[in-house]
Amino acid sequence: MEPILANKKLKIKKPNARNMVENVLEQFNSAADSIKLHPSIRKILSITNNEIIVHFPVKMDNGDVEIFTGYRVQHNNALGPYKGGLRYHPTVDIDAARALAMWMTWKTSLAGLPYGGGKGGIQLDPSLYSQSELERITRRFTYALGDNIGPEYDIPAPDVNTSAQTMAWIADTYMSAKPQTQRSMNQHVVTGKPVGSGGLEGRDRATGYGVFLTIKFWAEKNKVNLKGKTFIVQGFGNVGYWAALFLEKEGAKLTAVQDAFGSIKNANGIGVDSLFNYMQSNKGSIVGYNDATEMDNKDFFGTQCDILIPAALGNQITEKNAADIKAVLIAEGANGPTNVEGEKILLKKGVTIIPDILCNSGGVIASYFEWLQNRNGELWQLEEVILKLEKKMKESFMKVYDYSKTKKLDFRTAAYCMAILRIEKAYIQRGIFP
Ligand code: NAD
Repeated sequence: MEPILANKKLKIKKPNARNMVENVLEQFNSAADSIKLHPSIRKILSITNNEIIVHFPVKMDNGDVEIFTGYRVQHNNALGPYKGGLRYHPTVDIDAARALAMWMTWKTSLAGLPYGGGKGGIQLDPSLYSQSELERITRRFTYALGDNIGPEYDIPAPDVNTSAQTMAWIADTYMSAKPQTQRSMNQHVVTGKPVGSGGLEGRDRATGYGVFLTIKFWAEKNKVNLKGKTFIVQGFGNVGYWAALFLEKEGAKLTAVQDAFGSIKNANGIGVDSLFNYMQSNKGSIVGYNDATEMDNKDFFGTQCDILIPAALGNQITEKNAADIKAVLIAEGANGPTNVEGEKILLKKGVTIIPDILCNSGGVIASYFEWLQNRNGELWQLEEVILKLEKKMKESFMKVYDYSKTKKLDFRTAAYCMAILRIEKAYIQRGIFP
């Protein structure tokens, strides 16, 4: 399906989202073959349960009305309520939402959480709207989704270009539409909220910290000292920044960064917090940072380094650039950053890939803690959150590591096998209604 032109400001760059669905299905089928997945369950998991598309009007600051298109895809809920982020980006469409929702099903299953998978967002470029326009767009989208989301049914969270603030607007709108007596029971309709509004201490850093932890566990298993190792990061937002910060604290050196505006490098190292402060004062862009030189975007992945962290969008590492990559380890902070053809080239070269559904699962694990906290009327301390997150990430990493060694599989296939086996078990125990 061609993306619908949602509003006049939108210029859609040709999305490669269809490849994302093909990609996730190819990854799924390869793991399904490996575990000889029950054919009926393969059929169920190959499609999405529900796909919601809403068109809704919003008044702009100048009084004009624009129409926006929002999506929510619910892939599977065999293990619990649908869970997954909302993205605001021109490439959001039904195919991207489908692929991302499927990845969420595998991710929540692998992490051992009582959730299924969902994903969605709005097709727009948020940099073209004022803060008050974004608030009205978010509130009207929430209203349009209505009870297609809910604290025990489908629980969104932040993703690309959405934040704790976005989640606070969604929670407030959703709760305001409920009777007075039920409002507080609905706070956990979203996770990733600000700490003052039901959010969890540490949710902000959880995904990036989890990315760092998987790198650390891999280094421990392979007797690699991270001190002095070099790394490059694509995407310097929530995931990229926190992952880089924790790696820097461990003694590794950030030598190149790419964001939506351009790429920079410095072989002597780029200070993570210094770049972050610069970016915040520079309308979210890393370009022009004075302690690094600009480089061509197309040369970024070929930069000499030990570790590569893709933490931006899907389909970034492909057959076109995989051969250039110098890193020995790729830690997938983003969802779906490596396509199947790119991965084949990398595995042949002996590169290890820590797959997205394991590598960036710290975010959804912390979201689960936030959900529990809200449901039980508790407030958790940061130390408690970090300890619980480390324990869960380690369990997941070791599970995948051991399975990959025993079955002689790459990490991604091993992770998929573990995730799918858990869902298969639930279906076999419960059967198919009626
Ligand atoms: P974000 O909006 O905070 O940051 C996105 C970053 O990517 C920005 O630096 C942006 O400039 C950059 N970017 C955008 N388009 C780019 C392009 N074409 N080339 C290079 N850089 C580009 O988003 P985030 O929350 O950090 O999410 C990043 C990735 O991590 C996404 O794939 C998301 O699905 C995944 N993820 C996020 C979370 C989370 O908790 N936020 C959890 C799991 C996975």
